Amino acid sequence: MSSESQGRGMLIVVSSPSGGGKGTLIRRVRQTVPDLSYSVSWTTRKPRPGEVEGRDYHFVSVAEFERMRDGGGFLEWACVHGNYYGTPWSEVERAQRAGLDVILEIDVQGAASVRRLAAEAIAVFIIPPSFETLRERLMHRGSEAPADLERRLRNARFEVERYCEFDYIILNDEVERAATQLAAVIYAERARRPRQEALVRRVLETFPPVEQGNAQSGQNGGS
Ligand code: 5GP
Repeated sequence: MSSESQGRGMLIVVSSPSGGGKGTLIRRVRQTVPDLSYSVSWTTRKPRPGEVEGRDYHFVSVAEFERMRDGGGFLEWACVHGNYYGTPWSEVERAQRAGLDVILEIDVQGAASVRRLAAEAIAVFIIPPSFETLRERLMHRGSEAPADLERRLRNARFEVERYCEFDYIILNDEVERAATQLAAVIYAERARRPRQEALVRRVLETFPPVEQGNAQSGQNGGS
């Protein structure tokens, strides 16, 4: 792992309507981009077939969630499609201590809360090509009861309408392309000058000291 690629504890918020495909994109990006950590949320939603406790979510009761929330254990939390979801502080702090960047896969309300707390967080919105594609993806997934599916589709429009609250919009028309774009956003954000100050200082230290009376040479663009 080169220190240049090492994360700096950036918070990368990724939101989309339900069925927008952010889960798949994030899985791809975690396989290709080094030094990324994923924050496992708490939820009061029941596990879907195939979901694993501690990997996909921490599945908890409403009482457990409320205890954690009231104790200040969440960086942000929201009620989404009728269930509670929250990002534990501990997940983010652990990743940041390890110098990793953290991906938060959260809804638009959570994204707004994170931005209020940490203005430097990067917010990415994944948009489906159309309502029809979203509906097909959700129906194909088959994980929601009809009423829940309808509710998620109804909420989708309001979620997309909040696109202005995000720094980047990625069209998820083709998974490979969209995942490459998300990775590109992360790499570009890592390269921002304020995040590379330490690197530049390290490189500068390798240069011979400036000779007396020669401090300005090379600064006028001439040879
Ligand atoms: P799902 O039930 O489909 O797993 O998630 C429903 C919505 O809740 C998705 O938009 C998902 O990103 C969001 N979500 C998951 N975890 C969190 C969280 O910790 N906080 C917030 N605010 N939303 C979350």
